[in-house]
Amino acid sequence: MATIELQDVTKRYDDGTEAVSGLDLEVRDGEFLILVGPSGCGKSTVLRMIAGLEQISDGELRIDGDRVNDRAPKDRNIAMVFQNYALYPHMTVRQNMAFALQQAKVPKREIAERVEEAARALDLDAHLERKPAQLSGGQRQRVAMGRAIVRSPKAFLMDEPLSNLDAKLRVQMRAEVARIQSRVGTTTVYVTHDQTEAMTLGDRVAVMRGGVIQQLDTPAALYERP
Ligand code: ADP
Ligand code: ADP
Repeated sequence: MATIELQDVTKRYDDGTEAVSGLDLEVRDGEFLILVGPSGCGKSTVLRMIAGLEQISDGELRIDGDRVNDRAPKDRNIAMVFQNYALYPHMTVRQNMAFALQQAKVPKREIAERVEEAARALDLDAHLERKPAQLSGGQRQRVAMGRAIVRSPKAFLMDEPLSNLDAKLRVQMRAEVARIQSRVGTTTVYVTHDQTEAMTLGDRVAVMRGGVIQQLDTPAALYERP
């Protein structure tokens, strides 16, 4: 679990685009924070800076109090869950979930334990030997989350993880994401342009526009003063 702090953070891309401007944000330990706003407002840029996939131009980024501006992605222990799942099609569910741990030279027995524990939490135990093509969209999404969970990251970053699903599955997965989060309790930053998703999933919601946060509060408080 982790606290993530951005202090006066600005991102200018090489072409001069200022995607994020003097942004302040504190994500509290264990909370599910949503970044919501229209396309192009800078949500993905914020996530990618936290993950270390994008260099910060100005300002400070701290994880658990440590300045991590210059730390490589693999040294931040933060897991990013992408919208397109990015599962390996030729590998089984078990192999997909084990892969990063094998790369990190985690002992075999511990890998097996962690994969099975995550599979139980995600109700994937019965599907461990299947390949992604044999799974439903929702199951694939859970495998993608499982790959993140087995690494016991300090935080999850999710970029529109439900945007490729049909409407019915989205509603199911929304409940699923909330259930997993309450079970695992890992600090999560979740990006969406969908207001309903933001208001139903978030402990707190940060409303972004034009590279800044306009409002940051609980869904209940945002309903009262929209
Ligand atoms: P969102 O996730 O809210 O859609 P992004 O963070 O993707 O917003 O983009 C914010 C702004 O930065 C947009 O104007 C976008 O076009 C621009 N942008 C994003 N990535 C790059 C990049 N690699 N180079 C230049 N501009 C970029
Ligand atoms: P999002 O779903 O976050 O809105 P986009 O479709 O805006 O994503 O961006 C997808 C990819 O294209 C990202 O890696 C982003 O960095 C890049 N990108 C977005 N806008 C620009 C831009 N104006 N110039 C260069 N790359 C961009």
